[in-house]
Amino acid sequence: MREAAPSPLDLLIVGQGLIGSLLAHAAADAGLDFLVVDDGHQDAASLAAAGLMTPFTGRRFSAPENLEILLDAAKRRYASLSERLDAPLYRPQPMIRVFTLYEEHRRHARQRQTHTGARLLGPIRATGEGPTGMPDPMGSCRIGGGGQVDVATLLQRTRTWLAASGRLQQARLEPAALELGAEGCHWNGHPAHLCVLCTGHQARHWDAFRALPWRLSRGQALILRRNPTMPTEIVHAGRTLAPLDKDRAWFGATYQHDLDRREPDPEARQTLLDEYRRLFPEAPAPEVLDQIGGIRAGSRHGPPFAGLAPDHPALALLDGFGSRGTLLGPWHVDRFVQRFINETLAPLKP
Ligand SMILES: Cc1cc2nc3c(=O)[nH]c(=O)nc-3n(C[C@H](O)[C@H](O)[C@H](O)COP(=O)(O)OP(=O)(O)OC[C@H]3O[C@@H](n4cnc5c(N)ncnc54)[C@H](O)[C@@H]3O)c2cc1C
Repeated sequence: MREAAPSPLDLLIVGQGLIGSLLAHAAADAGLDFLVVDDGHQDAASLAAAGLMTPFTGRRFSAPENLEILLDAAKRRYASLSERLDAPLYRPQPMIRVFTLYEEHRRHARQRQTHTGARLLGPIRATGEGPTGMPDPMGSCRIGGGGQVDVATLLQRTRTWLAASGRLQQARLEPAALELGAEGCHWNGHPAHLCVLCTGHQARHWDAFRALPWRLSRGQALILRRNPTMPTEIVHAGRTLAPLDKDRAWFGATYQHDLDRREPDPEARQTLLDEYRRLFPEAPAPEVLDQIGGIRAGSRHGPPFAGLAPDHPALALLDGFGSRGTLLGPWHVDRFVQRFINETLAPLKP
C-alpha cells in the first residue's frame, strides 16, 4: 500500500532566533501547524544582543510611532512566554541616559512634550546626580517603561519546547532545496502553505529579497565580570552598560560595516575598553569574560519587513528588526500571523 502524502503544514519557519521563536509561539497560540528549521544558531544576532527593550534610543531619543502599543504587546508576550517556558524571561528595568551632547537636551525636551514622552522620560538631573562613578557634566535623565529580555534563555527554552513536540529540525535550509509553487512550497519531505524566512541578515542572500532596502551593521559587545564600581542600573551614554546577572555585565556595542569579517576582532575590543575607561575613569580595568558579535539586519524604511516575496506567494519574510527586535518583535509577529490567517499578507515592495 502506498503511504499517504503528509498533509501540508501551515508554516515552514526558517530560523529560530528571537523572531522565529516568537513566530513559533504565536503560531502555536493560533492553532497553526508548523515546523521550525534552524541551523543550530550558527549565525544568530539574537545571541549577541543585550535584550534591552529601550523605549527611547540614541542621541535623538527616537521612538517608534506606536510605542505604547508595542510596549504593551511585548510585555504581554514575554509574560506569557515566561509562564509557558517556566523561566523569568523579562525584567522591567530603569534606564539612565547620560547626556553626551547639549543638543540632546533639546531632543529630550521635545519628546517630553508628547504624551508617551511625558509619561516615560524623567526630567534632566543636574550634574553629579547620575549613576555612581560616572562623570555626567551635561546631566542625565531616567527612561522608564523599558526592561530586559533574557533572549538566550528564551531561545534555548523555545528550542527544547519545539523539540519536545517534534516541531524542530536542525538543518540549514538552502534556497535551491526549497520548491516553490503557486499553492505552496515543499522542503525535504515537508509540504507547507507558506515558508517564512526569519533568518536575520542571511535573508539578503536570497534572490527574492536581495533588492529590499536592507540596513546592515556588524555589532560587537564585551561580557564583563561585574564589580562593585559598576552602576546597578542600565546606563546609556553612547555605549551601553547593562547588568546581566550578579556576576556579569554586557558592554557595547560597536557599529561596523565590514560585514564579511565574522570573528570578533581585537580592534573592536580595544575601542570598547577605551570607551569604558572614558565613561568610568576612576574604575579599575574590567575583566573581559567574552567578546560576542552578530550582524544587525534592519530596514532603511524603518518598519521591519513583514510580507510575501514579490514573485512567490508561498515565500514570506519576517525580518529587518534592526536594534529593536525585543520591542518590535511581538507586535509585528502577531500581526503577521493574523494576516496569514485572514489571507491578507501583501507582497513586499523593494
Ligand atoms: C551586538 C548586538 C546587540 C544588540 N542588542 C540588542 C538589544 O539590546 N535589544 C534588541 O532589541 N535588539 C538588539 N540587537 C538586535 C537583535 O539582535 C535583533 O533585533 C534580533 O535579535 C534579530 O533576531 P532574528 O531572529 O531576526 O535574527 P537572528 O537572531 O540572526 O536569527 C536568525 C537564525 O536563523 C538561522 N539561519 C539563518 N539562515 C538559515 C538557513 N538558511 N537555514 C536554517 N537556519 C538559518 C541563524 O543561524 C539564526 O539562528 C542587537 C544586535 C547586535 C548585533
